[in-house]
Amino acid sequence: MPEKIGLIGLGIMGKPMGKNLLKAGFPLTVWNRTHARMDELCALGAHGAASPQEVAENSDIIITIVSDSPDVQEVVLGANGVIHGARAGSVVVDMSTISPQVTREIAAALQAKNVAMLDAPVSGGEKGAVEGTLSIMVGGDAAVLERVRPVFNAMGKRIVHIGGNSMGQVCKLANQIAVVLNNLAMAEALVFAAKAGADVSKVLEAIQAGAAGSWALNNYAPKILRRDFSPGFMVSLQQKDLNLVMQASRDLNLSLPGTALTYELQKSLQAWGLEREGNYTLIKVIEQLAGVEAKGQTA
Ligand code: NAP
Repeated sequence: MPEKIGLIGLGIMGKPMGKNLLKAGFPLTVWNRTHARMDELCALGAHGAASPQEVAENSDIIITIVSDSPDVQEVVLGANGVIHGARAGSVVVDMSTISPQVTREIAAALQAKNVAMLDAPVSGGEKGAVEGTLSIMVGGDAAVLERVRPVFNAMGKRIVHIGGNSMGQVCKLANQIAVVLNNLAMAEALVFAAKAGADVSKVLEAIQAGAAGSWALNNYAPKILRRDFSPGFMVSLQQKDLNLVMQASRDLNLSLPGTALTYELQKSLQAWGLEREGNYTLIKVIEQLAGVEAKGQTA
């Protein structure tokens, strides 16, 4: 008998992850704050619950993928939260990106009820969630990870045990530092090419395959050239993650000058009301400084 899975949060990431769990044959109970978003998965065979508590009552392994630290606290520890329905021996797997400190607090509260927790944030974006190719960075007990691994295999391709509780989130924040600095590097390169009069599509074709090649250049740059800024991963969530990085780096007395700069530049996007666009919208700030757009000519 496969383990019974619960899934809380059916946003850009959660919904396709749920579809992949169903495709892999796991019995699935779902809950989403906006109830209408449960309809599609229920039509595919999931059971829709009335609360996170009911999800936990029906499940052996309960996955959360909601927005931020207070949201995970609410669905796990709040009134009608997972903790009130989870049986001893069940596992909570938080796949959101949240604070390492809050993760440790939630894990301790669950442990007091003999419920294990894994922090298992993901990378790979909406595309990775749809295709079941996410990278999953896991913090928590290694034996618990082995129990959950078949579930992770339905959603991801690379599953790495980083260390104890919260180390998955530490890894994810390191990932976000690299993501935003890659986005900034891409933005400056494409805007430079446009300002200097080059065909940006040709420049992209050439540099993608060389030492400058990156996930950002392969996946985001073609969308920039088409002026398609639909998310993917929203600016607001990117800023949420950088805020977590800045908090953690303050605690560590650690200077991250490039990350801090990018965080500041992205505040302009929020001021312009663009926080629901994709995170590579960062290029609009660099374009504004240059007075030029990095449009594709031959794309
Ligand atoms: P999203 O589309 O905005 O979805 C957020 C989900 O969280 C929705 O289901 C929302 O419910 C729910 N939610 C938020 N606050 C809640 C609360 N207080 N109580 C109950 N439910 C709440 O976001 P997403 O892109 O799926 O991201 C989810 C998580 O994955 C975030 O931590 C994000 O940083 C991380 N992540 C995202 C990506 C990406 O590319 N999108 C990649 C890696 C990691 P409603 O439907 O009611 O609003």
